[in-house]
Amino acid sequence: MKRRLPFVAILAAFVLSSCSTSNQTKTLAAIDAIPAKHLENYSFDPLTPLISRIKPAPEFALSFLRTFDRNDSEAAYVPSDSQLQLIGEYLKLLPPTRLQLLQYRLVAIYFIDHMKESGVTDWVYDKDHKIFATLYVNPRTLTTNISDWLTYKESSCFASDNSSVAIHVDAGSEYLAFLYVLLHETTHVVDYVTHVTPFVEPYVGVFEGIKATNTTFTDHVWASYGRPADGFDFADRSKLTFFGIGKAPTVPLSRVPQLYHWLAQTPFVTLYAAQSWAEDLADCFMWYYLTQKLGQPFTIKILSASHELDLYTSAPSQQNTERLKVLETLSH
Ligand SMILES: [Zn+2]
Repeated sequence: MKRRLPFVAILAAFVLSSCSTSNQTKTLAAIDAIPAKHLENYSFDPLTPLISRIKPAPEFALSFLRTFDRNDSEAAYVPSDSQLQLIGEYLKLLPPTRLQLLQYRLVAIYFIDHMKESGVTDWVYDKDHKIFATLYVNPRTLTTNISDWLTYKESSCFASDNSSVAIHVDAGSEYLAFLYVLLHETTHVVDYVTHVTPFVEPYVGVFEGIKATNTTFTDHVWASYGRPADGFDFADRSKLTFFGIGKAPTVPLSRVPQLYHWLAQTPFVTLYAAQSWAEDLADCFMWYYLTQKLGQPFTIKILSASHELDLYTSAPSQQNTERLKVLETLSH
């Protein structure tokens, strides 16, 4: 996960209303007033090993996350020595160019108890307006298998009804959900810094003065940040919620076969990826790296009394050549 709109209620009113200079000024002032946005408030040394940046979240960062998540029960979690060792091993699985970028741009990794989502990547800036990032991670991803977590995540979109439909994501049994967090969230960090998509979230677009024209990755697939291009949108897409954040799911389970049938006609590898171009990139990279570089499966099966739809055996054919080139480059 990266972004849901709005990330702080006060910003939403400014950013979503218009792009006038006055509103941009208000947006920038609102961002500037958040302590968690300022690099100088963190203890950060780009020369230290990434593993040493795992720290208990400082109060200002925790407070920001609680507001963002609307979840006051969130608290700092300290990984055990064996978990730290595991995290170190997982970090080594990332592509070398990504590790290099994280070395200079990833300020801290905070594990947070009672988070509902898998993880959150936030952006931070220095006095020269250079962008850095912080990572908040759900410690349950250190003890849950990747397939079980992704099944839980996709299933969380739907409200139970009398149907016998179930979703099952098979991403292998070799890795923990933490690998999913690393692949997905660090893609947002790369995106913040290198703009694989025009911007990871609209606020960054305002902050950096970026116009929302498409990039190689988003071209022909996205009409705008959260609106797919013609032919790739589908009913109920914008009604989906994940992990029960914001509000309980409203789309009934009986809609699952139809939704995944539509999804299979798009380049989006998960329902989550269909939320915005930023989530499309993060999940698409996760899928590509997991299957092409780490040799894991990635299929989503829809199980019901009447049929089984094996969706993602055709996922590569839904990606255009240019997107595949971008994913390959990000994998080095
Ligand atoms: Zn995300």
